[in-house]
Amino acid sequence: MKELEMDKELYSLKMRADCENTHVSGAEKIIEKEDVKSYAMSLLKRGLEHPRGSADFINLKLERIEQEEILYLPALPISTVDVKDAREGWEEIAARLKEIGIKRVPEIIELFQKTHSMRGAMLLDIHTLERLEKDEKRGIRATYMDWERKKGEKISEEKNHFLEAIVLATKVAHAPGIVGEICMSDDPDYVTGYISSKKIGYVRITKLKEVGNPAGGRIFLYDGEKTDVEKTIAFLEKQKVIVQNVLLPENGNSSIMDENKLSFLDHELARLRKENLYRSLKRLDSAQGSHVLWQGRDMLMLASNSYLDMISNPRVREYSKKVLEEYGAGSGGSRLTTGNTRIHEQLEEKIAKFKHAKKAIVFNTGYVANLATIAAFADKDSVIFSDELNHASIIDGCRLSRGKIVIYAHNDMEDLERKIKENLPCKGLMVSDAVFSMDGDILNLPKFVALGKKYGLITMIDEAHATGVIGATGQGIWEHFSFSCDQPDIIMGTLSKAIGSEGGYVCGDERIVEYLINKARGYIFSTSLSPATVAAAYEAFCILEEEPELVRNLQENTKFFCDMLRENGIGADSETAIVPIIIGDEGQAVLVQERLMEKGYYISAIRYPTVGKGQARLRVALMASHTKEELKEAAKTIAETIEQVKCDHREDKARL
Ligand SMILES: *Cc1c(COP(=O)(O)O)cnc(C)c1O
Repeated sequence: MKELEMDKELYSLKMRADCENTHVSGAEKIIEKEDVKSYAMSLLKRGLEHPRGSADFINLKLERIEQEEILYLPALPISTVDVKDAREGWEEIAARLKEIGIKRVPEIIELFQKTHSMRGAMLLDIHTLERLEKDEKRGIRATYMDWERKKGEKISEEKNHFLEAIVLATKVAHAPGIVGEICMSDDPDYVTGYISSKKIGYVRITKLKEVGNPAGGRIFLYDGEKTDVEKTIAFLEKQKVIVQNVLLPENGNSSIMDENKLSFLDHELARLRKENLYRSLKRLDSAQGSHVLWQGRDMLMLASNSYLDMISNPRVREYSKKVLEEYGAGSGGSRLTTGNTRIHEQLEEKIAKFKHAKKAIVFNTGYVANLATIAAFADKDSVIFSDELNHASIIDGCRLSRGKIVIYAHNDMEDLERKIKENLPCKGLMVSDAVFSMDGDILNLPKFVALGKKYGLITMIDEAHATGVIGATGQGIWEHFSFSCDQPDIIMGTLSKAIGSEGGYVCGDERIVEYLINKARGYIFSTSLSPATVAAAYEAFCILEEEPELVRNLQENTKFFCDMLRENGIGADSETAIVPIIIGDEGQAVLVQERLMEKGYYISAIRYPTVGKGQARLRVALMASHTKEELKEAAKTIAETIEQVKCDHREDKARL
């Protein structure tokens, strides 16, 4: 730690952000000139992206200050008192006030309530209980302070509430005539408050209110002549202060730093809740089929990826059980060490044959198959052309490769070609979902493959929602286009959707698979799938070959369901098992979903970040085993529920 260098030019930088005339965020720094720009940017960002609302008014104030004006103060020592509830917290405050030597304790605590609506602090005479601030609404604002940074310390975009509190308390404690301070944050999620003074230091009290309570406030306790109040206020509002030695572990603060290190989790989770983006788990109490048991109720399942009901298929269960008896549960190693069995090899041969490929290689999940394959085929010198609606696992694979990622408009082959031309010459990979997982539409495969050939780029598709779903016999996208074009170089798919087991695969020629066995880290460094899981997938492929009517049922169901939706006034169209029903608003989508769940329909609402903001939707996933009657009734109920929610929303708006 060192003092700001004498020859540096110093500035005070302050930011205040409001949204609809309420304060959302504020901050201030004392910094060197060279840091002004980056701090200003980070403070602007904080104001614009605050969880309480994006600011519509930001005041950024920059003032040159002189080194000689600055008072350096040592940070107050910090201690923490753990209390079980707010009552105990305030008892603790009362005890500390007495310790400081203050008499009229209950009255002071009572007066604290009055600070809740104030912007600044109350300045209170501890003898007369007279309020000394000139403007009782505004209160006193202690400003012009910061903590001393280490040389080269990184600017954090996160607000450090804790550090800022110590700095403020330290400055206040050193103001002439001030004998103590009590503070409680107005952040509804932050219930820890403090009492501080030069005598007792900075005492954190872990609970001064209940979670969710937006009340907060601050009192400065004054013990001095009335004629000297001006001096105190001037110190609080104008004296430039830099607090030294804040929060160093060697000062005995390591436990607080440790407690503080995860506080961003609370803030992020609160933001997600507020923006209707919070996710939580639901639990099923039955095997997955067209009907499931949820919270003791029979539900029609409209959200499963088990499109062909392979999960409950008796042949799949039987064969998997047999292999389980023979091989036991786990595989005991990665494929290259001890985790390779006849069962694994048999599945790979089966997949290769089914997909008309020379070879196949199985990964532990579809997610890992994409990550490992993309990262093996592209490196930092590559350009990856990726559809804007590609699955998250493709996106993550692209990032892992560290190549240049070029996003093209959804299924727009003209945009793709334009972007390829802009990047030529390049070593590149084109990658796309075959069936898009949230929209249920199908890649323009012939054009995609032709572009790859024309520009010498590797082509890769993800058939997670294509295999077992499209093509006359469920072979996927190539069959869907009647084998009329060349196949892509790399065909990836999952064993977890229509196949009803788990795992992912990649098909290609011998070279491609040989290369992956040697280079794909997600294959090399992970224990292989259990033989029983692999057996389930194998048997599902056998069934698919022998009973193509399963696929026909699924395709008929899609057509029928879309017809029914349209009959009920809902625009819907799909050739796959995925039927998106766009709602738009995240809150409304969640509400529609909740009401449908109450009515016995298990259905998912898909929101940002899975789809774009304002594009929230219901995503219906159909199964071969849904009956026409079930689908007819479901379409009607879905249409009615959407209408109800939209109608309620309009009424709410009209009332406002
Ligand atoms: C589900 C999915 C994956 C991931 O597969 P898992 O086996 O669930 O890990 C990859 N790509 C797409 C398009 C998917 O829908």
